[in-house]
Amino acid sequence: MDKKTIKDIDVAGKTVLCRVDFNVPRSKETGEITNDNRVVAALPTINYLIEQGPKAIVLFSHLGKVKTEEDKAKNNLAVVAPCLEKHLGRPVKFINATRGEELETAIKEATDAQVILVQNTRYEAGESKNDPELGKYWASLGDVFVEDAFGSVHRAHASTAGIPANLPSAVGFLVEKEIAYIGKAVNDPERPLVAILGGAKVSDKIGVIENLLNVADKIIVGGGMCYTFAKAMGHEIGNSLLEEDKIDLAKSFIEKGKGKLILPIDSICSDKFGVDGDIKECGADVPAGYMGLDIGPKSIELFAKELQGAKTVIWNGPMGVFELEPFAKGTIAVCEALANLEGANTIIGGGDSAAAVMQLGYADRVSHISTGGGASLEYMEGKVLPGIAAIDDK
Ligand code: AMP
Repeated sequence: MDKKTIKDIDVAGKTVLCRVDFNVPRSKETGEITNDNRVVAALPTINYLIEQGPKAIVLFSHLGKVKTEEDKAKNNLAVVAPCLEKHLGRPVKFINATRGEELETAIKEATDAQVILVQNTRYEAGESKNDPELGKYWASLGDVFVEDAFGSVHRAHASTAGIPANLPSAVGFLVEKEIAYIGKAVNDPERPLVAILGGAKVSDKIGVIENLLNVADKIIVGGGMCYTFAKAMGHEIGNSLLEEDKIDLAKSFIEKGKGKLILPIDSICSDKFGVDGDIKECGADVPAGYMGLDIGPKSIELFAKELQGAKTVIWNGPMGVFELEPFAKGTIAVCEALANLEGANTIIGGGDSAAAVMQLGYADRVSHISTGGGASLEYMEGKVLPGIAAIDDK
């Protein structure tokens, strides 16, 4: 790890600015937080900072998308303050502003590791544009910056890249852990490295497939995206998901990945998207009028066999429509295969595969579940993540 971590910096008596990911899901009806995993994930860093005796810890986060005044009302970060207070067991001063006197005075007057939560960073139009003036202004409020919002480090925003461009900086424990797991898996894996890719679209995973074709020993492909590959191989795919404009690309991946790329050999298909259609097993060809909604039993067996002996596994995207019980078996089987691998480093990219692993009860049986869907995907693509690149080197 070549980036400074919070253990490498001295924060005693200082004002620490910390970018966290408090982009929590909320109930559409009541606005209440429905899952506080993200707040909990930030606690190790915040608690560690408190123990070091800084003057203040100023927390920045975005919440939802903010384009209009109505969006502002819907995405008021005030909802997080009581939840954070409960977890920290100490008061959190929420400032209903992203700049100005109230914020500046609160920071100036803070003592004894006072925790201050700033209003949603996206209330500022310059946040998403990484407006240099905004990054500079926020940086002027503190002495040192800590980056702990892994879910946002793939974005060059004022709060992720602008602040550290103007202040000494380090990564927090959450980002450090993500870099340790994903970075090691992609850049210096214990082999064999097997990647499992699924989810709806090839187009979302092009960069990942391209990069992994170079670094992985095997790539297993399932989910809706495998039907574009099946079509490229000349199979019938019925009404299954297809990206016509990606067939040639799929052909080139099949060519380049000879011996590495492992595709399903059967499917569970239905004549309807839902649980009440005519659901049946089919082979490599999906019959007309049907759509493939999960990998079939032979593919499950094949994938489990291909995973045997793997020392590193990275997984992004479910094998089927796991949200519906009749099409969850492929995804459950992959969870099971990963959970039973001995001595392997098993890493789940964020987003739907992380949701699947948690929903299906396998969270404790894998090595790491990433907290950032987009960020983990871009990391697996081998891209530079601006929010990490901006942090000081050791
Ligand atoms: P992604 O966000 O690209 O990882 O895609 C996840 C979504 O893909 C989930 O909501 C799944 O229900 C969906 N999905 C997986 N397999 C299929 C399939 N065979 N047909 C349609 N949707 C699928």
